[in-house]
Amino acid sequence: MVGKVGVGGTAPVVVQSMTNTDTADDLATAMQVAELHRAGSELVRITVNTREAAAAVPKIHERLLAMNLDVPLIGDFHFNGHKLLAEHPACAEALAKLRINPGNVGKGAKRDEQFAQLIEFACKFQKPVRIGVNWGSLDQALLARVMDENAKRKEPGDAIEIMREAMVTSALESAARAEELGLSRDAIVLSCKVSGVQDLIAIYRELSLRGDHALHLGLTEAGMGSKGIVASTAGLAVLLQEGIGDTIRISLTPEPGGSRAREVIVAQEILQTLGLRAFTPMVVACPGCGRTSSSTFQELARDIQDYVREQMPEWKLSHAGVEDMTLAVMGCVVNGPGESKHANIGISLPGTGEEPVAPVYVDGERATTLRGENIAAEFRAIIDDYVARKYPKKNA
Ligand code: SF4
Repeated sequence: MVGKVGVGGTAPVVVQSMTNTDTADDLATAMQVAELHRAGSELVRITVNTREAAAAVPKIHERLLAMNLDVPLIGDFHFNGHKLLAEHPACAEALAKLRINPGNVGKGAKRDEQFAQLIEFACKFQKPVRIGVNWGSLDQALLARVMDENAKRKEPGDAIEIMREAMVTSALESAARAEELGLSRDAIVLSCKVSGVQDLIAIYRELSLRGDHALHLGLTEAGMGSKGIVASTAGLAVLLQEGIGDTIRISLTPEPGGSRAREVIVAQEILQTLGLRAFTPMVVACPGCGRTSSSTFQELARDIQDYVREQMPEWKLSHAGVEDMTLAVMGCVVNGPGESKHANIGISLPGTGEEPVAPVYVDGERATTLRGENIAAEFRAIIDDYVARKYPKKNA
């Protein structure tokens, strides 16, 4: 469990995200955590890098509770984490989980000592820990040892194989050490973040073969826009399909001025598209072609997508199962009705040369035909009516 969220074992795969505000700014961070949580992030990670940040964590937690948002917060600690937690025990209290990077907790002899101190805090405050290895900050002493061992092999591996082995070894040895220090195995989550898709797949397959810890998946430095989405999806889909992964995060670089919550929506869409979880009604839309006479159907598809997302916070509380509903918005009446019949509700807008009418199908049957200027509003009303009838309010 992380806060009230089940992680690992038979629990559903959990969506996670991370803020990019200065944690010391408790108001800005609480607002962004709230935005990510409202978008569907079930766990939110915040960096705890300074005394000011550590002091702000309880305030962030309180601000969220005041908004009626009990969001499990994960504190991201690095080389000074042991000091920050010693000075700010209220920070540890307010967090639901600690993330520790074993390659970045200290150098030389201090590394083991400071790692142990962090685990002792986790035990004392009864917090689970993610041991998060990152290829950009791999423990150099461990890497040197893996290279030496590799050199002694009959058939030494190449540089990529050494890097993969060092990451898996770092995660597993750190987890074993954490258990020796008293942390229970079910309070440990492992991650090995790399930016190459094939490396990610190979490393996580190995991790899942060599241990039974809960695993957090994510491609680090995935990038911006479609590049980041495609790279993350390519890597995570393969692993999730193999049953590997208990929590996921999509490390998208936000577009300038873009919403941080996009990474949450992408994570949800990956899980929903794979059929692993359902979060919000899926809107199927055709790509359009020479038959589409205007951008009206594209606008309607976008409006409907936005509409169901906006409604979900309320629907989710009052209309159980509505997340499984499917909608179709198609660009012509030649092929549109066929697709519409497979959705719970489907609409086909008139294509070039077609009569200016929009047939609507509900559960495979033609229900009505819309025409005129108010098609979008009338279609939304049909959706609302369907939701009220098919997913009746609890206790109604
Ligand atoms: S449904 Fe009609 S408009 Fe859309 S891609 Fe197919 S043929 Fe073209």
